[in-house]
Amino acid sequence: MVHQGGYQLTPFYNEFSIDIYILLDHPSSKYIAIDWDNTISCNPAFYQSIIGAFLQEGFKPFICTLRAPDKESIEEMRSFHEYHNIELHMTNGQSKKKHMENLGIKVHLWIDDFYPGIAPCDSKIFRKNKIDY
Ligand SMILES: [Mg+2]
Repeated sequence: MVHQGGYQLTPFYNEFSIDIYILLDHPSSKYIAIDWDNTISCNPAFYQSIIGAFLQEGFKPFICTLRAPDKESIEEMRSFHEYHNIELHMTNGQSKKKHMENLGIKVHLWIDDFYPGIAPCDSKIFRKNKIDY
């Protein structure tokens, strides 16, 4: 267990101790998908710093949310995405991985508090990340 910035980092799956997941998908991609609700929204200053670090290293962090564009209460998310000049993808409830693949975008890392929103339970990404679900 590694402690960093008030967070505990663990490479092992334990649904009772994990709040935010970082799942590896396509190692050669530069895209980093970061969830909004209960992820960035919980600690915008922390995510601002890691988004900056990813950008400095040549990665392309973006917000990926299950929300729909026509719903209310998206002003804070929109202003975060505009301020940081990063992309915002709203999937309207569709599996995030499927949504991004339909756009031709493969994702290097998914940072999310709700991994079932990323892909269906039988997806390879979960076996690859040793999540039994
Ligand atoms: Mg979330």
